[in-house]
Amino acid sequence: MIRDVNRGFKQDGDRVFGGAGLKMMRLARLAADHDLTGLEFAIGIPGTVGGAVYQNAGCWGCEVKDVLAGAEGDGVHWQPADLGFGYRTSAFREGALHGHLIAGAWFQLRPGDGHASREQMATWTAERKQTQPVATKNCGSVFKNPSGDSAGRLVEAAGLKGAREGAALISTKHANFIENAGGATAADVRKLIERAREAVLKQFGVVLETEVEMVGREKPRS
Ligand SMILES: Cc1cc2nc3c(=O)[nH]c(=O)nc-3n(C[C@H](O)[C@H](O)[C@H](O)COP(=O)(O)OP(=O)(O)OC[C@H]3O[C@@H](n4cnc5c(N)ncnc54)[C@H](O)[C@@H]3O)c2cc1C
Repeated sequence: MIRDVNRGFKQDGDRVFGGAGLKMMRLARLAADHDLTGLEFAIGIPGTVGGAVYQNAGCWGCEVKDVLAGAEGDGVHWQPADLGFGYRTSAFREGALHGHLIAGAWFQLRPGDGHASREQMATWTAERKQTQPVATKNCGSVFKNPSGDSAGRLVEAAGLKGAREGAALISTKHANFIENAGGATAADVRKLIERAREAVLKQFGVVLETEVEMVGREKPRS
């Protein structure tokens, strides 16, 4: 049976479809409502299906690519193998499909117990609140985790927890987050990113790559 309820949401057997504008958190809840399991990890990911496919969003050891059955856009159906997924990237972000618009995506799930899925999501949400500065203004993880290590651990070990540039500060709760303490500019955030990157390179010889995407141009403070 196919149901159309929320921003193109459809369910067909063990598969669900989300239109590009459907929030990933909503999609995770809709899947649980249909007793389908596999998208619980998405409960912590702000943003839409389109954005999540674009960057192969993930957490708790699962990524979009693990459950993606295909994506649609520009009148084409792309198979997962076409999408060049990597750690927080895809062919839409830096490959042959750059500039293409994702209209929606299918996810291959498994029959499950919606109640258990909701409990898992509640557990992960509580854990996130404990370990990440969720109540602050921030852009999510700033750096990708280098292989076998954690960016937050390295930035913290470099002594930068609480470091500030203007009104941007490295979170004291989790050093891979930069908080806006009120009025931070893109330039403040960029300076802090460069400071953390340089300190980690100098002290540990590790090159940190940003997970956040830089867009536009910075304006100098007037
Ligand atoms: C507090 C916080 C916590 C976060 N935690 C996580 C996490 O645990 N794991 C994780 O992976 N990410 C995490 N993120 C990052 C978050 O997942 C991304 O910001 C989000 O997926 C981007 O989706 P969006 O809809 O907001 O896209 P936007 O920010 O609007 O766009 C992001 C990029 O995707 C492209 N894009 C968006 N929609 C489409 C489309 N339909 N077709 C083609 N391109 C498109 C845009 O052009 C842009 O380049 C976190 C962010 C925050 C703020």
